[in-house]
Amino acid sequence: MKAAMFYGPGDLRLEDIPEGTPGPGEIAVEVKAAATCGTDLKSYRRGHPKLFPIMPARFGHEFAGVVSTVGAGVTKFSPGMRVVAANTAPCGQCWACTLGRESLCENLEFLNGAFAEQVVIPASIVARNTYELPEGLSFEAAAPLEPLATVVHGMAESGIALGDAVVVHGAGPIGLMFVRLATLRGATVVSVDRSAWRLEQARTAGATEIVNIAGADAPDERIAAIKAVTPSGRGADVGIEAAGHPEVWEQTVATLRPGGTAVLFGGPPKGTSFSVDTAAMHYNEYTLKGVFHHTPRHVETAIRLLGNGGIDGNSLVTETRPLNRLIESLEDMAAGRGSKYVLIP
Ligand SMILES: [Zn+2]
Ligand SMILES: [Zn+2]
Repeated sequence: MKAAMFYGPGDLRLEDIPEGTPGPGEIAVEVKAAATCGTDLKSYRRGHPKLFPIMPARFGHEFAGVVSTVGAGVTKFSPGMRVVAANTAPCGQCWACTLGRESLCENLEFLNGAFAEQVVIPASIVARNTYELPEGLSFEAAAPLEPLATVVHGMAESGIALGDAVVVHGAGPIGLMFVRLATLRGATVVSVDRSAWRLEQARTAGATEIVNIAGADAPDERIAAIKAVTPSGRGADVGIEAAGHPEVWEQTVATLRPGGTAVLFGGPPKGTSFSVDTAAMHYNEYTLKGVFHHTPRHVETAIRLLGNGGIDGNSLVTETRPLNRLIESLEDMAAGRGSKYVLIP
């Protein structure tokens, strides 16, 4: 079968490899749709020691497909079932899982290998984080389940309430999902980005105001432009960082109203830091929250939202392409020509 193999930064190859056989508790899935994500692009460019400790490694983690064979002891799934899986499962045993903080699980096992004709899902993910697709939900629309689950997690931490003024910084797929879900929760949403085409997508997702900060190089200029479109110019009740740049983390905090909450969601490069004005932090009583990953509960909510039309997975996809255009698609993402591609093996 054809599978994408990652040999190191900038070196991804489509190769012929033998199909995997599911061991006890595992299932083999014929991939029908696999989606690219920001993590794939980051890994492709810089590598990812946590995701790819041994190379060459299978690549990709957002997918949906049909069960082809099941390993010993699997009772929940049978050949022919349409399924989608998250990219990890918490162990349920460690201190973090015991505290109910499953996104911090010390033993998260990562699934890689979605960009292939077939993938074997590890037993822990089969047991806790694999789901049958709701009727009417297509493989393409279900593939971006994992990022949506992380956004559901971010929404749970945000405390966004009916009527809140929410500013979402960044209008890539993650930002668009926040715009959509914050709108569903009854907030008025401002989308901030440097790309006119991404901001148009944010408008379609529900943003009532868009702020294009292209050309606004001075932080003060950007902060003023963003605050100007919030109620009385006071700032956001809730600010969401969905870009993954330290300067945007700072911009997110600097555009809060007194007492506001910032959800610092995007993952900046390792080793970077950001700063917050101490007087503002103190006198304005900000709440700053880091959010990482998801839990099975968030994954289940994400599936429900995809299944009931709360969010249309297809609306996040720039284009659907055959699997042999994977590298070209990552290059298009790097060049800012597209933000998410679905690849069909
Ligand atoms: Zn992803
Ligand atoms: Zn754990």
